[in-house]
Amino acid sequence: MQEQSKNNSELMGTSGSPEKINLKGLTLSELAGLVAEWDEPKYRAAQLASWIYGKRVSNFEHMSNLPKGFRAKLMKEASISEVRAVSCTVSDADVATKYLFELTSGDKVESVLMHDQERTTICISSQVGCAMACDFCATGKMGFFRNLSASEILDQFTAIERDLSEDKAVTNVVFMGMGEPLANYDQTLKSVRLLSDSDGYGMSEKRITISTVGLAPRMRQLAREGLKCNLALSLNAATDNVRTRLMPINEKYPIDEVLAAAKEWALATKRKATLEYVLIRDVNDADADAKRLRKLMSRLPCKLNLIPFNEIEDSEFRRPELNRIECFRQIVASGQHVAPIRFSKGHDIAAACGQLRTDFGKPGTMIRKAS
Ligand code: SF4
Repeated sequence: MQEQSKNNSELMGTSGSPEKINLKGLTLSELAGLVAEWDEPKYRAAQLASWIYGKRVSNFEHMSNLPKGFRAKLMKEASISEVRAVSCTVSDADVATKYLFELTSGDKVESVLMHDQERTTICISSQVGCAMACDFCATGKMGFFRNLSASEILDQFTAIERDLSEDKAVTNVVFMGMGEPLANYDQTLKSVRLLSDSDGYGMSEKRITISTVGLAPRMRQLAREGLKCNLALSLNAATDNVRTRLMPINEKYPIDEVLAAAKEWALATKRKATLEYVLIRDVNDADADAKRLRKLMSRLPCKLNLIPFNEIEDSEFRRPELNRIECFRQIVASGQHVAPIRFSKGHDIAAACGQLRTDFGKPGTMIRKAS
């Protein structure tokens, strides 16, 4: 199981110009280093950050407050990556859109846009495939290919944002797409910082959620980062036996350890951790499981999301009946815990939790091809 693997260099670029320096994904201080190398005044870094992240401009010619000579140099030596959507699939009632992106490496990743009355949320991928092999997850069945760079993570955000109608703005970003974000720690954190920095995309950290299977050392590291983003821990079972069956990572980081790490994170950030619990028929949905879960939750400041299993091909698992889901919820809620049931959006287009998989060529509900 691979938790951290080497990344393509940020500076290699992802816009089809490997010889050019990709400016997207560079922090203000990295941009400052670059403009110093180019013998440009320091304030050019802030100007570039404002164009790239603040104004989302990717054409150097449009950066009107930069001198002509500098723009010409940028056109020759730098690029600002963009990712190409190969297809977009829109769910019934338009509550979710699944994007299939092809990276310049040829790898493909999926991202999902979800709407409700209050939120417009982008669910982005942090890896191509995933090494965690959770048994209920389509991505886990693909295996792991590679980590995404911060720019490849941000490219998903900007491509979807650009596709929104003018009256909509992204309110939330969740790292719950393909991959385990904390296994790609540095690039995930870099993209979170660029999304939330005032010199970046300027989102509130509290609107960003990192999901994890429970890589305990990385959760503890995250607790010390001084970030106010949300942490969602995929718990999915109330005993180690069941959790190991569903999530092999539990052998390395069992329930006691991941809950202790989540508690450390919650105390350090003064925020409640979110526990995610995918309810699977006859696997983890018994009353006894609910009672154990209620007890586990009393160990730390947390809230719970109950997610009825989204059925996938090649899986023995099934979604519980509605009355079973409600019984389970009531038992957990009797411990004064908030336990909403979250039906994932986009089930009909295989865009819901645990359903992302780049199985190109399978017949689907393709509504429109991205231009
Ligand atoms: S649930 Fe998340 S961590 Fe587990 S296999 Fe799927 S993508 Fe990976």
